[in-house]
Amino acid sequence: MASRKLRVLMATAEMGPFAKVGGLGDVLGALPKALFDKGVDVRAIMPLYGFIDRRKFHIRRIAGLSEQAIIVGDHEFNVQYFRSNIPESKVQVFFVECDELFDRDGVYADPASGMTYGDTTTRFILFSKAVVDFLKMGVFTPEILHLHDNQASLIAAMLRGPNAEPELAKIKILLTIHNLEYQNQCDLGYVNEAGLDPSLTHPGGPLEFYGRLNFLKAGIVYADKLSTVSETYAAETLRGPDAGFGLEGVLQSRGADYRGIMNGADYAAWDPANDKWLVKTYSARNLAGKPANKKALLEKSRLPTDDLGQPVVGVISRLVYQKGIDLIVASLEEIFSRDVLLVVLGTGDPAYSGALREAEAKYPTRLAVHLEYNEELAHLIVAGSDALLIPSRFEPCGLNQLYGLRYGTIPVARRTGGLADTIQDYAPETDQGWGFLFDSFDTDGLVGALDEALAVYNDSERWKALMKRAMGLDFSWNVSAEKYKQLYLELVNG
Ligand code: ADP
Repeated sequence: MASRKLRVLMATAEMGPFAKVGGLGDVLGALPKALFDKGVDVRAIMPLYGFIDRRKFHIRRIAGLSEQAIIVGDHEFNVQYFRSNIPESKVQVFFVECDELFDRDGVYADPASGMTYGDTTTRFILFSKAVVDFLKMGVFTPEILHLHDNQASLIAAMLRGPNAEPELAKIKILLTIHNLEYQNQCDLGYVNEAGLDPSLTHPGGPLEFYGRLNFLKAGIVYADKLSTVSETYAAETLRGPDAGFGLEGVLQSRGADYRGIMNGADYAAWDPANDKWLVKTYSARNLAGKPANKKALLEKSRLPTDDLGQPVVGVISRLVYQKGIDLIVASLEEIFSRDVLLVVLGTGDPAYSGALREAEAKYPTRLAVHLEYNEELAHLIVAGSDALLIPSRFEPCGLNQLYGLRYGTIPVARRTGGLADTIQDYAPETDQGWGFLFDSFDTDGLVGALDEALAVYNDSERWKALMKRAMGLDFSWNVSAEKYKQLYLELVNG
C-alpha cells in the first residue's frame, strides 16, 4: 500500500533562485527539493518581490482566486496570489503579491543605499496575514506549516492565539531559526495592527519582550516544535546571550521541543565538475582546471598573476558584525606579512565596506575588495581561491565552508556553531582533518590558523591530499532532509 504523503507548507521571506540574501535563500532553494524526493508533498509561500522575473520563472496568477483586501492597522492592502515551481523541480511555490509593500529592488533593504526598509514590520505582518488567508482558501491544506525565521514567525501567533481560526488550529507548526540575532522587535502597537490579542502583551507575555513586540519570540512561544541549523548553534543559543540574543530563556523553556538539524549543501548548484560560472571545471580526480579559475579570479580582482603558486584566500560574506569583518581588517597587517593574497566579496554595513576600501588602497597588490552581490563571482572565488577565511563571531550553520570543501578550497574558520560541526580541524601528526579552526576571536587566533594552513600549503603533496579529502566529503541535503521528515512525522503523530 502506498503510504500517505505528508503535506507541508513552508513560509519564508527568501527562496533561491527567486530571492536570496544569504543562507536562508540557499536552504529554501534546496531543502524542499530534497524533501520532495523523499515523498513529502512540500510547497512554499513567499512574497512576490518586484525584482523577481515573473516571465523567466513562469510565475502566474492562481486561477479562481480573487484579489483580497488585507487590513494592517488602518490601511487596506490589495493582495493577489501567484504560483510557480522551483525551477527544474516539481516543488510548487506560491507568491503573495502586494505591490505597495513588495514591489521593491531588495528583500529587506534598498540595494542602492543599503538601508533597511522603514516599513519592515508592516511588510511582514501583511505577509503573515496573507499566509493565514491563503490557508483559509484551501488551495493547499497542509498538515504542517514550516515557518522560517522572524519574518514568518508571527503566523504562529495568528494561528494559536485566542483570536485564532478553529479550522486552522489543527495544523502543526515547526519554526526553524536560521539566525537568532534577527528577531524583528518593534513597537507594541503593532500587536493591534496584526490583529493579535493585546491582552498577551503583559510583561513576560507571549507578545511582549522588554516592552516591545518581538516576532521571533512569538514564534518560539507558539510553534509546536523548533529547530535551528546546527547542533552546536542550538547548544550555544541556549547557553547565553552571546548567541541567544536575549531569547535564551524562552528557548530553554521549550526544552526538548528545540533541536539542531544541520543544513546541507546543494551540490546541483555547487559542484566544480558542473558549474557554469567557472572558467574551467574540475574534480577531485582531475584538479587541472582549478588554476585557470585562480588566474581568472586574480585578473578580475586586478591582483598580480605572475606567481600562481602564491596562496589566495577568499572571503564571501554579508558585511555584518556576526561575520568578524572587523577582525579581518584589524589583522591585515599580520596577514600581509605572510605571502598571501586576499579577495573579499560582500555587501552590508557601510562601516565595514569603508574600512575594506581603505585597506584596499593601502595594499593594492595584495587585497581586492568587491562590494557587490554577485553570484558568479562568489562561485569564482570558491573555485579560484586556495582557502576561505570565515572568522565568524557566531555562525548558525554557514554554507560557504561546505561549498569551499566541495571545491578543494580549504576553510580557515572560527570554531563556532555549524563551522565547528562541519570542519574537522587538521592534525599535522595524523594528517587528518579538512580545515583549520581557531577559538579566540583575535588576530593571534586568526593568524595562528592561517599559519597552520600555510604550512600545509607549502607541502604541496599534503595540500593536494587535503584538497582531495575535502572534496570527497558528503554534506548533501539527503541526511538532513531525512531528519526534517522525521520531525514532521513526530509532529503529526503527536
Ligand atoms: P548567512 O546566511 O549568514 O549570510 P551563509 O554562509 O549561511 O551565511 O550563506 C551565505 C550565502 O550567501 C552563501 O551562498 C554565499 O555564497 C552567499 N553570499 C553572501 N554574500 C554574497 C555576495 N556578496 N555575493 C554573492 N553571494 C553572496
